[in-house]
Amino acid sequence: MVQSWNPAGIRHAFALLWQPRLALPHMVVQDLRDIDFAQLAQAGVRGMAFDKDNCLTRPYEDHLAPELEEAWRKCRTTFPDRVLIVSNSAGTDDDVGHQQARRIEEALGVPVLLHHEKKPAGVDALAQQFAAIGIRSNEIAVVGDRLLTDVVYGHRAGALTILTRRVLGTHGDNWAAKQLRRLEHRWLDWVWPGAGLYPRAARTAAAAARRRRRLDPLPHPILRRLCKASA
Ligand SMILES: [Mg+2]
Repeated sequence: MVQSWNPAGIRHAFALLWQPRLALPHMVVQDLRDIDFAQLAQAGVRGMAFDKDNCLTRPYEDHLAPELEEAWRKCRTTFPDRVLIVSNSAGTDDDVGHQQARRIEEALGVPVLLHHEKKPAGVDALAQQFAAIGIRSNEIAVVGDRLLTDVVYGHRAGALTILTRRVLGTHGDNWAAKQLRRLEHRWLDWVWPGAGLYPRAARTAAAAARRRRRLDPLPHPILRRLCKASA
């Protein structure tokens, strides 16, 4: 199923003119395999929310990209019953009867958030889902491949934000998403020139930002702890 029109995405894109840091992730990784889930848990992360397309699966596929299986297992072991998928296709009103959400839940073994508003809107649904199991929004890490949807959404929720940089596949991905992702990566490279991958990214990015008067990531207590732990 193809993602349809996302007016919230366009509306929130304008907000970035005033606060571009909303689109700047706390961390950048190539893909799930670079995320140290144990370290995140130690730093205070209690719940994980993942985008689906090009983060866990190739676009519009229901099963996990095979190369991510081991990392996915580690994530689910570290955060048992505290992992959620937040997609702009599955679980939305576009997903008739939530059939796709059910297929993905079966394939990936974790729940898919059912929500009416697409990312970057609709953070209340995320907060409520985690609040029901005693997790606050600032204890969630949101992981996704897009700055304008996943990262902005994570920041709006008050979560730690992690960008996956490697594109898992472009077959079936829509033209607009591909072009926007390319622009987002270019912007990220301009704001954080030469920034390495997590956990060094946050530190090098902060230093580069000061030197070039560009942008620091938005503050987050968990990021501070992670930086301290890896200093
Ligand atoms: Mg995606």
